[in-house]
Amino acid sequence: TEPIVTIGEILVEIMAETRGNGFREPQALIGPFPSGAPAIFIDQVAKAGHPAAIVSAVGDDDFGALNIDRLRADGVDVSAIAVLPGIATGSAFVRYREDGSRDFVFNIRHSASGQLSLTPEAERVLEGAGHLHVMGSALSIPATLGLTLDAVKSIKARGGTVSFDPNIRKEMLGDKQMGPALRAVLAVTDIFLPSGEELALFTGEDDEATGIGRLLQGGISEIVLKRGAAGASHFDAQGRTDMAGFAVEEIDPTGAGDCFGACYLVCRRLGMNVPDALRYANAAGARNVTIKGPMEGTSSLSELEAFIASTPQRS
Ligand code: ADP
Repeated sequence: TEPIVTIGEILVEIMAETRGNGFREPQALIGPFPSGAPAIFIDQVAKAGHPAAIVSAVGDDDFGALNIDRLRADGVDVSAIAVLPGIATGSAFVRYREDGSRDFVFNIRHSASGQLSLTPEAERVLEGAGHLHVMGSALSIPATLGLTLDAVKSIKARGGTVSFDPNIRKEMLGDKQMGPALRAVLAVTDIFLPSGEELALFTGEDDEATGIGRLLQGGISEIVLKRGAAGASHFDAQGRTDMAGFAVEEIDPTGAGDCFGACYLVCRRLGMNVPDALRYANAAGARNVTIKGPMEGTSSLSELEAFIASTPQRS
């Protein structure tokens, strides 16, 4: 099987130990944890047993090495992760509020991930890809945007497929380049993986069914709508499939959508039917939220089988 490939930021996440608002006073922190939505995604692809590679950049520092070591150990092809001298690996500081929402301090654009370029190794990895997964967070970094749009065109020209997880944070919506880029990717997307509110953001339709209908008419083959604790729904030309989420206690929601998407794609490429793939993907998302740290809860398929056997679904 040809690898699933993604492009985008690799970071460390450093987490406040106590809940509260932001970082305006000194506090206890834990981490660094390997992170970055594309990194979490590709780690989950490899752990699920599918060939996987990421095009990215880190600094020549411990934060970069932490990520490369983890991804390599989990089976990701790390040859297209450039190690850049003289610039730091990106970081995200996160603190949970009492209500479960999060405050962030990001250092991404001015980190190594902001300096991504098409190296010979990246070119080789992209040429070997069977499927390209695009993340909205990567499109918000100017250096990554052009590279991603080129990669999308060339994989489609070679008969490969494209999935797209917009994972839009409200911080990104102010960016002028984002709108056209998001639409350009959507126009060639085979599998679209939005979460709840993103569907309305993309279609401009408050009504879910109308928005879904328009996307399917526009040429998208499958839409997989992530519904957090409630699970997920799948839409294609044949109709609609709903799958309830698993009943777990949420410890750390970061990375759930990335694990869900990775697991869904791998299961489908392994030939699983839609309901089974949704069940495994829900399990990957649910298991991830029970474990602290964004990439700490990625799962192998056998871990997911055990999780499914022992965890009730919500009704
Ligand atoms: P995103 O992280 O992209 O915003 P969601 O929050 O919808 O996406 O989470 C992705 C998937 O992870 C969900 O569709 C669900 O399968 C699973 N998931 C997320 N949060 C929970 C939770 N609290 N309990 C059970 N499953 C969850």
